[in-house]
This record gives sequence, C-alpha cells and structure tokens, in this order.
Amino acid sequence: MTEWSFTQAEHREVRRILAATFGLSALRSFQAEVVVRLLRGHSVLAVVSTGAGKSLCYQLPSVYWDRPVLVISPLVALMHHQAERMAALGVPSAALTGQLDGDTQRDILRAWMEGSLRLLYVAPERLSDVRLGQALKERMPALLVVDEAHCISEWGYDFRPEYRRIRTFREAVGNPPLLALTATATERVKADIRWHLTTDREPFDLVEGPVDRPNLFLSVEMTQSPKDRERRVADLARRAAGGVIVYSGSRLSAERWARVLSQALDEPVRAYHAGLAPGLRRTIERDFVEGAIRVVASTTAFGMGIDRGDIRTVIHVDVPDSLDAYYQEIGRAGRDGEPAEARMVIQPMDIYRRERWIRDERPDRDWVREIWARAAGQPLNRPVLWELEDDDTSTPVLLSVLEDMGVLELKSAPGGIRVTRVESVDPHVDALLHRLEQFWERRRTLFQHMVDYIETDQCRRSMVLRYYGQSASPHERCCDQCESGGRATVGPRGDASLVDRLRAWRTQEALAMGVEPYIVLNDRDLMGIAVKRPQTREALAQCQGMGPKRLKKYGEAILALVGDGEPASAGDEPLDQGAPRDRAVWLFKAGVPWERILIEVGRSESTVRGYFVDWLKTAPQAEWLHYLAHWFTDAEYRMMADTMDRLQTDRLRPLYDALQGRFRFDQWDVARAVHSRRRAELVSGGAPHQGG
Ligand code: ADP
Repeated sequence: MTEWSFTQAEHREVRRILAATFGLSALRSFQAEVVVRLLRGHSVLAVVSTGAGKSLCYQLPSVYWDRPVLVISPLVALMHHQAERMAALGVPSAALTGQLDGDTQRDILRAWMEGSLRLLYVAPERLSDVRLGQALKERMPALLVVDEAHCISEWGYDFRPEYRRIRTFREAVGNPPLLALTATATERVKADIRWHLTTDREPFDLVEGPVDRPNLFLSVEMTQSPKDRERRVADLARRAAGGVIVYSGSRLSAERWARVLSQALDEPVRAYHAGLAPGLRRTIERDFVEGAIRVVASTTAFGMGIDRGDIRTVIHVDVPDSLDAYYQEIGRAGRDGEPAEARMVIQPMDIYRRERWIRDERPDRDWVREIWARAAGQPLNRPVLWELEDDDTSTPVLLSVLEDMGVLELKSAPGGIRVTRVESVDPHVDALLHRLEQFWERRRTLFQHMVDYIETDQCRRSMVLRYYGQSASPHERCCDQCESGGRATVGPRGDASLVDRLRAWRTQEALAMGVEPYIVLNDRDLMGIAVKRPQTREALAQCQGMGPKRLKKYGEAILALVGDGEPASAGDEPLDQGAPRDRAVWLFKAGVPWERILIEVGRSESTVRGYFVDWLKTAPQAEWLHYLAHWFTDAEYRMMADTMDRLQTDRLRPLYDALQGRFRFDQWDVARAVHSRRRAELVSGGAPHQGG
C-alpha cells in the first residue's frame, strides 16, 4: 500500500457512503486519487474533463468527515440546482445567492454556524460579505473548493477578477485545505492557479485526467450563405439520435435559431439564454434532461451541469473566443461514452466578426488614463463606492489590475465596487497601460488558438491534445481532417475555375485582335470580375475596368463565362488547401478593400495579413501601396521606420516597447515588411519609394 491509497478502514467507509448516500458502487480512479489526498490533508488541483464526476471529489469528503465544505462557484444558476440535488440525497446543502431574500440568507448562515450544513455554495462576489466572513470564522470549513478554477487566470478563457480575492479570503478564515477544480487548463493556467491560490510551502498536488474524448467526432464546416448554414444545421440536428445543443454567440441569435429549427425540424426547439426568467430556464433544463425537448438553441449559458448523457451533437454556429471555451462546451456531448459529434458550422464572416470584436476591446488609452486619474485622486485608505452599469465589464478588470499592482483594494458592494486607495506613491500610468495591453494580447492569443483549430489541415483532435500538453492515441472516428486525408478545408469555394475561364477567353480574344492580353482586360479587372461574379449587365457595369466600350464589346461573353460556373453551395467538393492564399493574392491584385478580403478568404486577420506581408515582398508597389492606409498614415510609417533604423532591429517586441505601445503589433508587422522591402530596393539600386 502506498501513501496514496486508502487504508482498509477508509476503503470500507468510502464504499459504504458511496452506496448509501450516492447510490454508486465505486470511485472512478481520478476521484480516488483526489479523495485520498484530501483525507491526508493535502490541497489538490484536479484537471479533469467535463462530466467525469468532479463534484463527487468534495461531496464525498463532506459526508466522510461529517463536516462542512464551502464551494466557490461562478455559476449561480447551477448552485441552487446542485444544492437541491444534494439535499435530496440527504446531505444538508444550500446556495447563498442574491436571489434569496434577507431572511433566508440569515437562516443559511445560522445553519452554517450551528454546524448543520454540509455543503454551502457561494459565488466569488460573496467573499467580501462581512456576515459570511464572520460565519466562517466561527466555523471554519473543512475544505474550500474552488470550482472552475481557471477563472483565476488571465490566461484562462474566462478570467474573473473576483477570483483573485480567494487567497486573502482563505487566509482570513484560517487556511482550510483547498480543492481547485477545472475541466481544462494549459500549463500556464495551472501555474497561475497555484500562484494565485496557494502559498509556496504548502503541498498542492496535481491530479489530471485525460483531456481526450475519443468518442467525439470533430468537424468544422464553412458554409457560403445563411440559408446553406440553416439547411446544414437542420440536417445535423435531424439525424442526431439524441439531444442536440446549438450554440450561438448572442441571445438574439439563440432565439432566431430556435425559430428556424422548430420550423425546419417540425419539433419544438427551445431558446435558452441568461435573459430568460429563472423559472422558465429551469423548466427548459428539466425538459431537456428528461428528454421532453430534444434540441435547444442557446448561448453558452446552457449545458453547464446539465446531466444528460445522451447529448449526441453539439453544433456551434458562431466562433468561440478560445479553444478552451470550445473544448469545454463540446465536452457536454456524449457523456454516456457513446459516439457523439462536435460540429462547427460557420461562415467566413464569423471569424472576421469575432476577431473584430476582440480588436475593438483593446483598452482605449484615454479612458484608462481617466480611470487612473480617478483612482489616484481618491483619498488614501478611505473606501469610495464606484457605481457600475450592469454591462460594464471593463472597469472591474481594470480595477483588478490596479489591485494586483498594489494600488487599490477592492470589495464588491451592491451596485458597484468599494475601492480603497492603499498606496501613497502611485506607479506611473504607463505601467498600467502596459499590463492592460498584455492582458488584451492574451485574449488575442487565446483566440488565435481557436482560429488555428478552425484553419488546421491536420488532425483536429491531436491539435487540441497538443494544446493541453497531451498526446493522442490513434482511433477510428476522429475528425473531418482525418476522414478526408487533410482535405476537409474550411475555405470558401474558390473562383479558380472562373479565373481560368476568363484568362483562356482573354488569350483567344487578344490573339484574334493581335494585341497583348492586358489590352483586352488587365489582371486586376479580371480578378475583380471573378470575385464579384456579376450575373447581369448592370452588375457587370459596376465592375472596375468595365466602361461602356468594353461592356458592349465583351459584356455578353463575360456574363456567359460567369454563368457557366456552378453557384457555390454547401457540400461542394473540398477546395485545395493552397486556395486561401491564392485567393487572397487575387483579391489583393484586384484591389478589393481589405475588410472585404477578410470575409472572402474566410481566414483570420493575422493569417490574411501574413499572406499580404509575403506578397508585398515581390508584388509591384502600385498594387499594395493603397492598402497601407489600413494600418498607418505616411507620418506614422516614417516614425516606425525611424525607430527600426535607430534600434537596428526588426523584432516586434522591442519595437513595440520602444514607442510604448503607441502602435499595435499588426501595424509593426506590416511596417516592418514595407521597410525591409524598401531597404532591399535601396541596396539593389532600385528607386526609393515615397511615403507609406
Ligand atoms: P463534472 O463536474 O466533472 O462535469 P459531475 O460531477 O457533474 O461532472 O458528474 C457527472 C456525472 O457522473 C453525474 O451524473 C454523476 O452522478 C456521475 N458520476 C460521478 N462519479 C461517478 C462514479 N464514481 N460512478 C458513476 N457515476 C458517477
């Protein structure tokens, strides 16, 4: 017997409780690993996939010890549900939330102090509640559980500033042992959890389950039109032999999908989101769990803690913010171990839109300065209430960064946050700006992993596992890429054949007329037509280069060539992987506006920018010069070029830092390419070019 196995007496008692209270016959192996460590007084971080049974890791000890356990969880809606379920099993439990009236809250705290509760669930915002603090000092929890522990990390996909207060809280209530739980955590997130929750010296054991869900089939499909997407999603939902969740990014969209699918499937499909009344939400959850509803169209608010094993398909019709969020969400499918599917059915626009959204979240420097001035102007050591709007999520993040920097102390308060300035000498606002930029960049990096997942031509499953530092074992039904030998690309159908047809026609025409092909139609105009695919004379007349003369002479022929092509639709043969880059280059040459190109190519901004930067190394300046306005003005370019010359480097980080983050990384990226091309031309004797 090792230190990490139960003694015979422990084993007997655990089995007795499992059977008598939980109706189960044995612990799963990771549960045994966690529970035995807790019984030995160690703190534990358990990283185990959704549905594996993490809750039992603290429910069982509370019964075993017959002592109270405090559970911090961000999911208020879920807490009541969990507490009710435990109470029904005979384990006295309660959830202390703002949904309860004052009397009920007082009763719960009294029950805690009297020692009659075994499980108490609270949201992290509660931790600054004075009455809770007193109750816990009176009766220290036998164990402090931090559910969804990744929320403590800026590198987690769901950072919650309130989580940063857990360590202080834990110290205040006498440092009970800790159990941190999460379904997914990268190395960085694990390190952050340890750093922010524990002290250096205490044992904090890591128990990890496999991240892999071999029964999940993964796929990403790009559809060409909203109608195509609706058809495809309806097909997938129709053929699923069990529960289906369709995830979209907003309440409105969830409502719309519920309507569309109700009609298409001819069965009731319910919308679910945080905007519904709690009673209605519970009814929908119950109906779904009991199988009275098969399909739910929802925001990601739905599914956490939904105990339905036979969810056969999870369909995302929007792009999640991070691979972590995505993996967590698809983890709700196939919890019964039977084959299940995780499908993403999106449009090129979606990646672009989400990226845009994240880009817009970049902290506005003036606003940051304003908040800084307000915080710095506060009297020392005297709390001031900052009132916050419900939808203001940026100010709490900013304040918590200031708390991290030791400038402020924060306490949640009704309607806002109570802010105390504790530093007499303020660090410079630049330090704050720098941290915020870092924070924002992390979000971009997290999103980039999501984009990489969408765009990969490799096995999707191996990619996810690599992301979590695990390796994949081969198995049959894996993902669309494995099934198609890496050809299940998500790019929109290219117009390669139309370009070819137009080119062939142009060559014939030029030969017949005895002129150069570009006299008939130059490349740029030809590409423009291939992109726009005009169906009528009027539409063709709108294309660049199609003046009245050309229209008269070639109009018929061009329209016939365009009409020859099959319209693109879902389920078309897959496009060659080289296509997105080629397509981007045509579009650059055609002078199509940048934003439009992002949509047409259906790749992330950084990927398309990569194509652009490569292309401008060799392309004629006239073709790319006009794009530069998208990133900088002439004067801004000159400032960046001077900095590159001065520092004699083209590494982005030092450049970015040298001008204190005045320009974004994408701006530097493009400026660097332009600069290096101009330098090369100077060296090789080419004419230097003006302006940027
Ligand atoms: P998680 O929190 O990891 O997502 P839950 O704790 O909600 O998962 O448990 C998921 C399901 O697994 C529940 O239905 C639970 O009853 C079941 N379960 C947990 N542990 C066991 C076990 N040892 N044996 C059988 N079923 C279990």
